[in-house]
Amino acid sequence: MSAAPDARAEQRRDELRANLATVRARIDRAATDAGRDPADVQLIVVTKFFPASDVRLLAELGVTAVGENRHQEAEQKVHECAELGLTGLSWHYIGGLQSNKAAAVARYVDVVHSLDRRKLVRPLQRGAHDRGRDLEVLIQVSLDPPGSDHRHGAPPEVVPELVEEVAEAGALRLRGVMAVAPLGEDPRPAFERLAEVAAQVRSLDPSADWISAGMSADLEDAVACGATHVRIGSAVLGPRPANR
Ligand SMILES: *Cc1c(COP(=O)(O)O)cnc(C)c1O
Repeated sequence: MSAAPDARAEQRRDELRANLATVRARIDRAATDAGRDPADVQLIVVTKFFPASDVRLLAELGVTAVGENRHQEAEQKVHECAELGLTGLSWHYIGGLQSNKAAAVARYVDVVHSLDRRKLVRPLQRGAHDRGRDLEVLIQVSLDPPGSDHRHGAPPEVVPELVEEVAEAGALRLRGVMAVAPLGEDPRPAFERLAEVAAQVRSLDPSADWISAGMSADLEDAVACGATHVRIGSAVLGPRPANR
């Protein structure tokens, strides 16, 4: 006989609770080692590929920020969570953005981490305007070596232009920078480069002081380099069915 639904939910809750405790301990330890206050590092749990029922359990376990990386899945999950009565969660969009989807995304998320080109500014602004509230945005910075194709993220040298572009756009509020460490490389020097870009952004806009960096495998390096927001998926929810 298989477990009753209640027992299964109970088991999943225990699993998520234990994983969250482990991740929070890792963040605390990394912050303390870096001489930082652990309260200055916010945990965003990346729920892509996992159902709204998991988001509900996470919310009950004290999670306040969740991340998604695909428009259709995110939109549906935000809707489902609203139907479950989950208010007070902040939704972070961390995936690549197509310019023809950006306005739609801006209508249901609270923060977009992946503004990486001028072409996204207008549609994000339009979506935020439609929704009737300002949208918080981060500029995604490419940490790939100079001369590479920078598939995701703006090359560091164009970041100041993007800062200016966002500053001039109503309905968008620049909060800082975001990056993903390049695959198969020591993340530490990459996050150090990000810290330099972040300092440059702060010099242009002192309120843009967030650094969104660090995932399940590299959160310690990110926190050591000043991350204020870590985006953690598999270390909390378990392995995803496919690599996304
Ligand atoms: C999936 C994803 C994460 C979380 O990755 P994990 O390795 O599962 O912690 C973080 N950031 C971005 C941009 C992602 O797409």
